[in-house]
Amino acid sequence: MKRDLNSAPFVSRLSQAFVCAVSLSVLCAQEPVVQPAVVPVQAPVPTNEALPAPSAVALPAPETPGTGGVAVGGGAAKKTSYSRCKVDGRQVALTFDDGPHATNTPRLLDLLKERNVKATFFMVGTNVEAYPEIVKRIVSEGHEVASHSLTHPNLGKMAEGSVTEQLERTHRAIKAACGVDVVSFRPPYGSFTVTQRAWAASRFGYRTILWDVDPLDWKVRDSAKVEAEILRGTTPGSIVLMHDIHKTTVDAVPAVIKGLSEKGLEFVTVSALISMDQGGDSGSGGAAPTSKSSPKAGGKSVSESKSKPGSSGKIPKAVEVKPKGK
Ligand SMILES: [Zn+2]
Repeated sequence: MKRDLNSAPFVSRLSQAFVCAVSLSVLCAQEPVVQPAVVPVQAPVPTNEALPAPSAVALPAPETPGTGGVAVGGGAAKKTSYSRCKVDGRQVALTFDDGPHATNTPRLLDLLKERNVKATFFMVGTNVEAYPEIVKRIVSEGHEVASHSLTHPNLGKMAEGSVTEQLERTHRAIKAACGVDVVSFRPPYGSFTVTQRAWAASRFGYRTILWDVDPLDWKVRDSAKVEAEILRGTTPGSIVLMHDIHKTTVDAVPAVIKGLSEKGLEFVTVSALISMDQGGDSGSGGAAPTSKSSPKAGGKSVSESKSKPGSSGKIPKAVEVKPKGK
C-alpha cells in the first residue's frame, strides 16, 4: 500500500496539522554537520558553513523541544521520542554523533574502556560503511550503536521516500558491520517532525533520541568549554550530546567523566537509560528550561532541546527493517 505521504513532504502535512498548535519559534537546527569520511552516495553532506538553511516558509517542523517524550499518534500511548529521562537513580547517557571517525573514535573508545564507561554512538551511514571495523569494536566493547541517518540531511524537510532511504540504508549498514538492529535514532539537527517520529516508531521500531545537554562542541572546539558546559548542565536522566569526529571533544572526555562521576552520576547507554525511564513528568511538568542560544537563520545555532518525558517510557522493540521494494 502506498502512502500518500510519498507525494507530499512532511512539512506540508505538518503545516496542516500542527502549525497552529505548535510554536514555530524554535528551529531545531542544533546539530553540527557531519563530515563524512566518504563521499556521500546521494545527497551532498553539508559542511558547517553550509547548513541546510531552513527558510521561514519551510521550517522542518514545529520542532518544539518540549515534544521530546510526548506520546504521539495514539493519544497517551508509548513515547516515541526522548530528550532526557526521569530516573530514580543517578544515570546519564553520553552520546556521540556523526562518526565513526578514523582516529578520534578509536581514541575515544580507548578512553571509555579505561574508565569502564558505556556510551551511545549515533553514526552516519556513510561513515559506517567506511569504517565497519570501528563499528564492530564499538559494539564489542559494550556500547550502543544507533542511527544518525545516511548522509546527515535535514530530514524534517524531506519527503517520506527519501527519509525511508536514509534510514533503511543506515540500518542495513550497521547491521552488516556489527550484526545489530538499531532501535535508537537521532535526526541530524534534531530536525524530525512529530509526525515523522511516530512514523519512524511504527515503521522501523525507532525511538527518536534528542538531548538535553548540548555543549556545542562542534562549534566551540574547546575542550575546557565543552567540559564546563556538560558539568554544568548534566543531571540524573540527562542525555548529553557530543561529537566524536572532533578531537577537542574527545580531549574533553576524561575530564567530563571525572567531573560527572564526582557528582555521583553513572554512565549508561541510551537504551539502558530509557529502560529506567519513569515517564510522567520529568520534574518540571513541562518543557524544561535549558535553552541556551537562539536559533539563527541558517540553522547554525543551537536551540536547546528541552525535556518533557510524557507517558511511561517503553522501549520500542527493535523490528526488522522492512525494505519497501525499491
Ligand atoms: Zn549530527
